[in-house]
Amino acid sequence: MSSDNHLTNVDATILGAGIAGLSVADELIGRGLKVAIIDKKLPGSGASGAPLVLANPATGRRAKMTWKADLCYQHLKNVLESVQQETEQPFFTENGVLRPALTKEMAEDFERSPEKYNWPDNWIEWIPEKEFKNKYPFFGDNYGGLHIRKAFSIDPIPFLRSYSDTLVKKGLQTIYNSSVHINSDSKQLKVISSDQEAEFKSEIVIYAVGSAITDMNEWNFLDFSSIKGQTISLDLEEELPFRESISSLGYMAADPVKRNRLVIGSTYEHHFDHVKPDQNGKKALLSKLERTLPGLKSAIKSTDQWAGVRIAMNDHQPVIGRHPEKENLFIISGLGSKGMIQSRYLAKLLSDQIIENQEPPEEVSISRFS
Ligand SMILES: Cc1cc2nc3c(=O)[nH]c(=O)nc-3n(C[C@H](O)[C@H](O)[C@H](O)COP(=O)(O)OP(=O)(O)OC[C@H]3O[C@@H](n4cnc5c(N)ncnc54)[C@H](O)[C@@H]3O)c2cc1C
Repeated sequence: MSSDNHLTNVDATILGAGIAGLSVADELIGRGLKVAIIDKKLPGSGASGAPLVLANPATGRRAKMTWKADLCYQHLKNVLESVQQETEQPFFTENGVLRPALTKEMAEDFERSPEKYNWPDNWIEWIPEKEFKNKYPFFGDNYGGLHIRKAFSIDPIPFLRSYSDTLVKKGLQTIYNSSVHINSDSKQLKVISSDQEAEFKSEIVIYAVGSAITDMNEWNFLDFSSIKGQTISLDLEEELPFRESISSLGYMAADPVKRNRLVIGSTYEHHFDHVKPDQNGKKALLSKLERTLPGLKSAIKSTDQWAGVRIAMNDHQPVIGRHPEKENLFIISGLGSKGMIQSRYLAKLLSDQIIENQEPPEEVSISRFS
């Protein structure tokens, strides 16, 4: 990094140190760019920092395979393994996901999923009702279920903080707990971080700001939906009778380390006036637990709540790419509930555009909205 009269020059500045921003930093640094990342708070302070998250390639009511699931899975796996090597605290496990079919219609869809979406070998298995009930007797009423083998449960705060530390060792400049003023009048952008009085010139700025994107005028031509979600963390008297995480009415993530901890989460509030957890959220999540795992409620020792906002596009696909008018601005957003599994591969595609001027695939490109 070069410095001239207290003015630091970088090739790229990333706003936001969630899973999206850190993934982009990783890719750009790996390709030889000088990169700075700025966050109003600390890494994982946004939606990426939900108490536990799943990287599950089979989403929605029909257990559809997510976009480019094999590439996304492999990119995420590489990162999880390489960051884990740098820290003693275990933060992830590849424990798979169980999806009980709660209705006959769901069972029909789930049964079709392995063929319909052309899953890679051994990723996903339909287990008929009788066998499923024998194998997983702790579930409430169901008509069989899916076992998705290639899925991770992740404790995101230790992951993202270690990810940031790993990237700092490779040269990433971090400015955390800072608010930023961007002066974009000239072709080279001047990013002024007020709290730390750091001022530097950057060729490009990449917006990876999560739900704050809806406040940013530069991107107001994009039609974002903000959806609030809540989680409840349960400490249980006893160990869970299963190792897998669960996707049913929302998700139920088994802690990668503590066998008696489960986090239940769901994102569903399209209209909300605050982003705090509340009693209604707790009630709704506990009733999902009751329906899915009826025996577990009596084993709850203590609970903790959390809330956050995810951003989605109306076609449920993420959005990456260059601003149509301001050529020095880029975006990665709209990750919905798939930020963990998709961010690292999307970061590669966005970097292909930044460095090699290669347009991202239409399904995820910003060009589909212009
Ligand atoms: C309850 C809930 C549960 C979820 N569960 C899952 C799950 O199991 N699996 C999954 O894949 N996804 C899940 N998601 C969605 C997932 O969190 C998102 O897809 C993903 O985290 C978005 O990552 P991001 O990096 O774009 O945004 P964020 O993680 O929100 O990061 C944005 C960052 O930008 C910073 N920032 C904001 N404004 C500025 C600014 N002006 N300057 C600098 N920095 C700024 C914020 O402080 C924040 O750190 C869940 C979401 C919620 C709400």
